[in-house]
Amino acid sequence: MGGVLSSLGKGIATATIGLLLKEMGYKVSLQKYDPYLNVDPSMMSPFQHGEVFVTDDGAETDLDLGHYERFVDVVLTRDSSCSAGQIYETVLDNERRGMYSGMTVQVIPHVTDEIKKRIKKLDRHFDVIITEIGGTVGDIESLPFLEAVRQLRLELGTKNCLCVLLTYVPYIKTAGELKTKPSQHSTYKLREIGIQPDILLCRSEMPFEEEIYSKIALFTNVPTKNVFNAIDVDCVYEVPLVYQQAGFSKVICDHFDLEYREPELKLWHQFLKSVHRAEEEINIAICGQYVRHQDSYKSVREALLHAAAANQRKVNIRWIETEHSLSDEELKQELADIDGIILPGGFGMSDIEGKIIIAGYAREHNIPFFGICLGLHAMVIEYARNVCGLTDAHSTEFAPHSPHPVLHQIDTAKYKRMVGGNMRLGAYPCSVQKGSLAYEAYQMEQISERHRHRYEINNTYNPQLNSRGMMVSDTSPDGMLIEIMELKTNDFYIGVQFHPEFKSRPQRPHPLFNAFIAAVIRHGTRHQKSH
Ligand code: GLN
Repeated sequence: MGGVLSSLGKGIATATIGLLLKEMGYKVSLQKYDPYLNVDPSMMSPFQHGEVFVTDDGAETDLDLGHYERFVDVVLTRDSSCSAGQIYETVLDNERRGMYSGMTVQVIPHVTDEIKKRIKKLDRHFDVIITEIGGTVGDIESLPFLEAVRQLRLELGTKNCLCVLLTYVPYIKTAGELKTKPSQHSTYKLREIGIQPDILLCRSEMPFEEEIYSKIALFTNVPTKNVFNAIDVDCVYEVPLVYQQAGFSKVICDHFDLEYREPELKLWHQFLKSVHRAEEEINIAICGQYVRHQDSYKSVREALLHAAAANQRKVNIRWIETEHSLSDEELKQELADIDGIILPGGFGMSDIEGKIIIAGYAREHNIPFFGICLGLHAMVIEYARNVCGLTDAHSTEFAPHSPHPVLHQIDTAKYKRMVGGNMRLGAYPCSVQKGSLAYEAYQMEQISERHRHRYEINNTYNPQLNSRGMMVSDTSPDGMLIEIMELKTNDFYIGVQFHPEFKSRPQRPHPLFNAFIAAVIRHGTRHQKSH
């Protein structure tokens, strides 16, 4: 749970607890409960809620699941993501089906029971279930969730349930002091609804002096040894080391009477070492419509970081807005020191022409280019228009009556699980063709990647695209759906229909991101030589 204010990093804290327990050999699962009434974040603007993370089983979820998967290296399912909207939807549906035998349907017990049911559903499959409650203590919306936590604690016993509150201890410059009052108040607020936190994780930009720990302990009724200073770090991947050093995992084990085994964090240390060792820099442009809110591209950014570290590089990301099409001159300036371009996914008409122009610029100037979902669409439209001479080529998403619909919707229900409207969602198998750039990256013929889109490349145009050099390197196993296209004539020019960013891990960067960064480096060296 979180107090004082939002954006303190509850997701990272939750993921860290998961990682530390997993490293000790325990089987963990993680869950995020969001107090908003949307059934899931799929309809929310990325400006409001950041990226929509997609699981293998096709759930469109909160971006915190991305942190969980990256930190703990687990594959989560739709059981790990739930909103107030989903809870109410189920309760109201039950009510309509007469499942409550004439009772008055209420927040307590019906809504809280549904919440507890979803937490307990994971019981018996895992040693520890880690549940993050979204929002901030004191919000009206999160009350039913906190009430469910209170009840669960009573049912399971305090030994089987541990409550962690993440708070904030601000440093007031004029007083030269860290202030504990907001943390005290959040804890009072939590106690008011019957929950005494067991552990306080206190974010601060300055390290705590000894007396801060005891002051917080005294006013919050939490033992001093259970008060932790979650000091600001440069890179989120350092958080587990900070918590571990402070003895956090030992306190968790003591509470549950679990055997304490020192977490080794070997791969984690290795990854951080490569992050810190990387000195040479590369500049990558991410060009999209939501770049003002960088959380919208969270997983793309993390995937870049993982791949850059694996290639001993430090990556600088330049965010380029595609809402307004840039002229050739503007692009030349914007991209002058850019080593590689990523066109990420997106929805809506507003920036497609901006994206098409960038895809064209990258192609003509042989800048390493990686298009993801809508990025692939932009790349195909650009090629059809400017190389194949299909001047009005477009996607039917934006031009329903285009004379050359190079991207269209297919109706075949076979390819879609009917969730989230008519989207192709979640993991689908793909077959990579030997000899392709994609195969070079994956070194595998059968892969599985996560999807979230409605439109597909129109196979009718394949021969035209192919004859001019744009090749299909990956399809669905039946060959009907195109998954990857690439241009052999450039150093690296590739577009994918799926979202590889969701499967990248710090210890195991995604093969395509890895290949992209490697190509950026190779291209840079060649570029320097030729000058
Ligand atoms: N808007 C496109 C589609 O629905 C691309 C979606 C995406 O980039 N995730 O097919």
